[in-house]
Amino acid sequence: MSTFLGQSIELLLVEDSPGDVLLTQEALADSRIANRLHVVEDGERAIDFLMKRGIYTEAVRPDLIMLDLNLPRKDGREVLQFIKSNPDLTTIPVVVLTTSRAEEDILRTYKLHANCYITKPVDMNQFCSVIRSIEDFWLTVVKLPHKK
Ligand SMILES: [Mg+2]
Repeated sequence: MSTFLGQSIELLLVEDSPGDVLLTQEALADSRIANRLHVVEDGERAIDFLMKRGIYTEAVRPDLIMLDLNLPRKDGREVLQFIKSNPDLTTIPVVVLTTSRAEEDILRTYKLHANCYITKPVDMNQFCSVIRSIEDFWLTVVKLPHKK
C-alpha cells in the first residue's frame, strides 16, 4: 500500500444515505492507497467534525472531503460555503457527489468553490466505479496540500 507522507489518507464522507455510505466503504476497502474513511450523516455534524467540536474533539483533519448536497440539518451547500470561507479549511479539496444533475446546482456549487462536481450514478456498479475513479484521481494523480 502506498502512503501519503507516511500516513493514511484521511477521507471525510458527508452522506445521509446509508446505502451510498455502504457502497463507498466497499469501493474503498480494497484500495491500493491506505485510507481511513470517516462518515458523518448531516451538515451540522460535518462542521462539528471539521471544527473538532462536540463528539468530534478527536477528529483528524481530512485530506479530502466527499460531500453530498442534500443533507439533513444543514445542507451541503452551506457546508461547502463554510469550508471555503474558512482560511484553515479552504485548502481541503471538496468533491461534491450528488444525485442532482441540475445545471443551477452545478453552477452554484462551483461558485462556492467546490473542487469538482459529480452526479452519483443510480446503478450500483457505476456508483462503485465512480468512487474508484475519485480514489484513482484524487489520491494518486493529484498532489494534495501538505498537512499542517
Ligand atoms: Mg442526501
